Amino acid sequence: FSMTKAPLRNRDGEIRGLVGISRDVTERQLNEQVRDEFVSTVSHELRTPLTSIAGSLGLLAAGAAGTLPANAVHLIKIAHGNCERLVRLTNDILDLQHIDREAMDPQNEPIKVHALVEKAVEANKGYAETYGVEVRLEGNAKRAYVNANPDRLIQVITNLLSNAIKFSPRGSEVTIALATGNGTVSISVRDQGPGIPESARGRIFEKFFQVDASDSRQKGGTGLGLAIVKQILDHLDGRVEFKCPPEGGTIFTVRLPLAKVPATEKAPATEKT
Ligand code: ADP
Repeated sequence: FSMTKAPLRNRDGEIRGLVGISRDVTERQLNEQVRDEFVSTVSHELRTPLTSIAGSLGLLAAGAAGTLPANAVHLIKIAHGNCERLVRLTNDILDLQHIDREAMDPQNEPIKVHALVEKAVEANKGYAETYGVEVRLEGNAKRAYVNANPDRLIQVITNLLSNAIKFSPRGSEVTIALATGNGTVSISVRDQGPGIPESARGRIFEKFFQVDASDSRQKGGTGLGLAIVKQILDHLDGRVEFKCPPEGGTIFTVRLPLAKVPATEKAPATEKT
């Protein structure tokens, strides 16, 4: 059941009572479950053939079948780009489903956050170069550990980092900063992009939501990146929030509970976590 409550006021605004509406949502939840299952099954069936088509088109565009007329190469490249977008979409849909399943057996381990973030920055270097963006890592939380599944945590960082990069103007900088405090580690990704319009701020973590629908074509997005980030963090007792500071750009911040530094790690005399 879902409950909605509202105070009942008289003309002077004094509360005279309470109105409650309860709805049976069992059927709605069941419908959502059936829909999610269906979408996952379809995505699963589509992924393998799509990956194979994308591979063949990529080879053709690269000249694997000899030199093709320029207009044929142009068309193949368009088909290749669209096919890759579909592969990303099916992967993201399946990821959302897997993340929920993994909650039963999360395979978490102590992770040194700084090293993992360095890895994510390195992996996104090529992507940043294509957008003409410089990525800088700052902060001194070098010994902070969290308990998480490393593949999922890297996915969180990569999704935020790749958004920051793709929405950044050429020649600008993206900074990723680590800090610790109050038993948590925070990872902030800051860009100098357009920010998020006020009307969209309540919706950006929704599945498939994009401020600009043409982004899925132009920037290869699926509208699922932030939904994935939120879902992973929900399972880790973590949080994600964002700010659009008055000077422009966006800062996404992830907070996770600090884990104990493993006994195998020697504490250097000068460094603080
Ligand atoms: P997408 O695949 O489109 O990036 P996301 O779920 O990752 O989907 O993000 C949803 C939407 O939120 C994006 O389409 C974009 O409109 C907005 N958004 C996310 N990150 C940023 C950012 N750093 N700067 C500006 N807008 C952003």
